[in-house]
Amino acid sequence: MMSNPIFFLDLKKQQQRLGDAVKKRVDHVLSHCQFILGPEVQELEERLALYVGAKFCIGVSSGTDAIQIALMAENVGSGDAVFLPAFTYTATAEVPLVLGATPVFVDIDPETFQIDPTHLKLCIQKVRNEGKLTPKAIIGVDLFGQPAPWDVLRKIAKQERMFLLDDCAQSFGGVYQGHKLGNEADATVTSFFPSKPFGGYGDGGAIFTNDEEKAELYRSLRSHGEGKTRYQVMRTGMNGRLDTLQAAILLAKLDYFDGEIARREEIACLYDKHLASLVHVPVRVPQSQSAWAIYSILLENEQMRAKLQNKLKEDNIPSAIYYPLPLHLQPAYCNSHDGSVLPVSEKISKQIFALPIHPELTDEEVLRIIDVIKG
Ligand SMILES: *Cc1c(COP(=O)(O)O)cnc(C)c1O
Repeated sequence: MMSNPIFFLDLKKQQQRLGDAVKKRVDHVLSHCQFILGPEVQELEERLALYVGAKFCIGVSSGTDAIQIALMAENVGSGDAVFLPAFTYTATAEVPLVLGATPVFVDIDPETFQIDPTHLKLCIQKVRNEGKLTPKAIIGVDLFGQPAPWDVLRKIAKQERMFLLDDCAQSFGGVYQGHKLGNEADATVTSFFPSKPFGGYGDGGAIFTNDEEKAELYRSLRSHGEGKTRYQVMRTGMNGRLDTLQAAILLAKLDYFDGEIARREEIACLYDKHLASLVHVPVRVPQSQSAWAIYSILLENEQMRAKLQNKLKEDNIPSAIYYPLPLHLQPAYCNSHDGSVLPVSEKISKQIFALPIHPELTDEEVLRIIDVIKG
């Protein structure tokens, strides 16, 4: 007999837990009907700014649009190089290309899977030596919920006079050296896609900054480049606003968010404790708290990974691979890449394997997953 299914993301169970709080907030929006930039958007922006300790938060339509607005504000475009890790979700690399800039793919650290600052420096030097592109921006990604090496990235960005962006889509709520992520770079972007640690029930995102002028520019860019009045068009922008309904849902969910991160941490510890002797469990970045968007182990090779994935599937347990191919080898990006081998990203992509981690998982379910892996 097939065991009960375990879910990789369990929004139905989340609804049972949070549905009443969410409905109250949604009903309030249905009563005032200010669906575009209604009061909930500003309330959420204020609460999230407080939450991460940043001066300004600008709610936008998605994490991808947040990256686009942040880069448009720096006039990133044709002839510019934007440095980012090869091992990340496509959205990080997509935006520079859409804006006409060139993504430059940097390898990752084999332990933490975060961007490798030593390789970053080499890549910047190479672009400078070639003299064809202007090194313009660095996007550090807080991959899987853990922070990128921000102290080193900040030094490099300052030395090289480049804009530093934190892609915190997977790590909202995470902590780096005692501070919530959101203040490590010139601007920080996050995503409220439903599967992210702080997920809404649709698309959404936010940009954080401590620079008042930039905050104003981001607000203008998210609303078609408008000026002080609605029909004053100052620049080309986009339709990149956060929906009032999403803001309302996120406001309801924010009250439960710290508890959810604590639960993710408990699950991660349970996996660590039982699996560390068998597989390579995630290496924690020192002085940090992961938001645990993803819990990834490493297996010896692709064959072992496929075998384990099947074994789990037979027991009705889902798993996932983030990411099966680093971006510089993807059809969309290989033409912008200089052809160099990025050995760590290429190796890790064949070994990495993500287990379910979300607040609705019970200890019994986690132990069942562990038993199947051990068995
Ligand atoms: C999800 C994600 C994004 C994009 O966020 P959306 O809200 O889906 O547009 C960007 N970067 C990373 C690292 C992500 O995981």
